[in-house]
Amino acid sequence: MKYHILTLFPEMIEQGLHTSILGRAINNGYISLETTNIRDFSANKFNRVDDYPYGGGAGMLMQAQPVYDAWKAVAKPAEGKKPVRVLFMSPQGKTFSQEMAKELAQEEELIFLCGHYEGIDERVIEEIVTDPVSIGDYVLTGGELPAMVMIDAISRMVPGVLKNEDSGVTESFQENLLEYPQYTRPEVWESKKVP
Ligand code: SAM
Repeated sequence: MKYHILTLFPEMIEQGLHTSILGRAINNGYISLETTNIRDFSANKFNRVDDYPYGGGAGMLMQAQPVYDAWKAVAKPAEGKKPVRVLFMSPQGKTFSQEMAKELAQEEELIFLCGHYEGIDERVIEEIVTDPVSIGDYVLTGGELPAMVMIDAISRMVPGVLKNEDSGVTESFQENLLEYPQYTRPEVWESKKVP
């Protein structure tokens, strides 16, 4: 599985995902991560990527042009292959779930688009996004944490990422069930015995 992340804060993604189980999966080649800094595609001499909302309104919006050019730089479907899906991190999107993680893990590549400020000019969203996805009914400052949450959950469904393949199928949310309580050694801890 190859993940491309279009973001204004690539270091946040790099630092967050190169550790523990995902770090090992990257090192062993089960997944790969390529971050693209949208700011590198700014056509503005001060490297700006945001502007005021057309017609007024609070905050700033990411402009269409740098987002579109960043997408064009990574979205190059191989000969005979279908276009790579573009997941836009958005509070208005479909709520992410374990079912969605399993389905997305079947893809060979995915592009994540992370918004910031008050969001992104709708015209480029209409042009390139295939799947708007929300990680819950609350508003975060950017799409980087949602992308990391999704990449973590999807990667666990990619064969080879978990050392014990079974652990991915005996967990919560498989077949609409939640996992049972579990215990480890010692058998008695603080006078509580394993049932
Ligand atoms: N003005 C937007 C609204 O009211 O829906 C919120 C923009 S938010 C401050 C900035 C960016 O963070 C969004 O473009 C999106 O990429 C990301 N984001 C915030 N909350 C999110 C959530 N619950 N799920 C997915 N992405 C989220």
